[in-house]
Amino acid sequence: MDLERQEHGEMKMMKKKKHHVLVVPYPSQGHINPMLQFSKRLSSKGLSPTLATTSFISSAMNLPSTTGPVRLSSISDGFDLGGFPSAPSIGAYLSSLHHSGSRTLAGLLAEFREAGDPVDCVVYDAFLPWVLDVAKVHGIPGAAFFTQACAVNYIYYLVHHGKMRLPLGDTPVRIPGLPPLELRDMPSFICVSGSYPAYFELVLHQFEGIERADWVLVNTFYELEAEVVDEMSKDCPVLTIGPTIPSVYLDKRVTDDKEYGLNLFELDPSDCIGWLQTKPPRSTVYVSFGSMAALNEAQMAEIAWGVKSTGFNFLWAVRTSEERKLPAKFKEEELGDTGLIVNWSPQMEILSDAAVGCFFTHSGWNSTIEALSVGVPMVGMPQWTDQPTDAKLVEDVWRVGLRVLVGEDGIVTREEIRRCIMQVMGNEEMRTNAAKWKELAVASVSPGGSSDRNIDLLVAGIAGP
Ligand code: UDP
Repeated sequence: MDLERQEHGEMKMMKKKKHHVLVVPYPSQGHINPMLQFSKRLSSKGLSPTLATTSFISSAMNLPSTTGPVRLSSISDGFDLGGFPSAPSIGAYLSSLHHSGSRTLAGLLAEFREAGDPVDCVVYDAFLPWVLDVAKVHGIPGAAFFTQACAVNYIYYLVHHGKMRLPLGDTPVRIPGLPPLELRDMPSFICVSGSYPAYFELVLHQFEGIERADWVLVNTFYELEAEVVDEMSKDCPVLTIGPTIPSVYLDKRVTDDKEYGLNLFELDPSDCIGWLQTKPPRSTVYVSFGSMAALNEAQMAEIAWGVKSTGFNFLWAVRTSEERKLPAKFKEEELGDTGLIVNWSPQMEILSDAAVGCFFTHSGWNSTIEALSVGVPMVGMPQWTDQPTDAKLVEDVWRVGLRVLVGEDGIVTREEIRRCIMQVMGNEEMRTNAAKWKELAVASVSPGGSSDRNIDLLVAGIAGP
């Protein structure tokens, strides 16, 4: 009788045990943010997530063992002391990440198993297809997570499968589910042939072995990219699960999910939110080019004088490494009460503040979907990778902004910057469109919304029958 009772108790314990999901992002801010957020969402749905960054990030940032409900762990990229900046080349870094990452990931999976907490599913960044190989060797299901827009993934998908030949012939390029695309609308690795070969290989390799993935997730929402999601799903069924921004800006169902919570850059100590709150509604331009873009001095000067010449207030995030490129004394003498420059900002808090009327952005996918989710129109100044395509969609499909024109010398002039900001600030049509996307973004992750249903499908699949 006692034995029976004990067995029954154990059965109940086993039933109660939350399924363990290991989430492995590419180690950069733009990939960690959405995958950490997705981990929090999975936790709110009853799973137990662990996010694995790299040993370098973990020690350099002195990461705690958890952030909110998400446990933090690490694998090695082979550069434990210096991370990416210490690698001799992009290719060398990616190859080391692959080899050291595979080895240490296998170790981590074994560790969890030995500790009686085996991993039930690996959600891996599609930039790291080798994670799926390791998971499969360990008999663990895998979900690929694409951090970029579905449109961009589909373009790479077509190139990878030889359905779109490079170099591109006649333009505009016609791809089902997308507007006609000029060369400059294509991801930079395609448009500027031969640029960043290691990264180009990386984005095409996302589809290597994808048919063995148990799920393919994309950080977008169905209503935003319905046609291209449908087209891609004919060949490669995808589940849209975004936006993955903190829940407080969307459905508010994930407890305490107010910020990303894993900054690779130190937040600026200045009270930029307090400063913003002294500004009237829609009076301020927020300027940021993300975590990687490095502009030259001439371009920085055009931005500085162009933004200032609009007469609007502006809040500009300039990373510490970029600050020396600002025009001399600009920060000290030209800002007055209308401008504020910070090194790293709480971007979501800023974008959702009523004072912000326009986001002058590099059109990184996270920045784009963040602005769409809180209804802020944009001026796009794409730099490379997927950004040109994002900016094209913002301007011509979602109609919530403009993309700057680049001069023949590669520089965007202050006059052009001024022209675009003046047109977007206070543009009622763009505001109305942005408000519509905001509403659809919130609905998609709310109960019964398109992303919510897809996440439930994934969770049910992981939990099993
Ligand atoms: N970000 C931030 N503070 C800043 C600049 C950027 O929190 O001062 C965040 C932003 O909210 C976004 C991410 O960093 O989530 C940047 O990702 P994105 O895809 O836009 O660009 P990337 O940095 O990958 O080029």
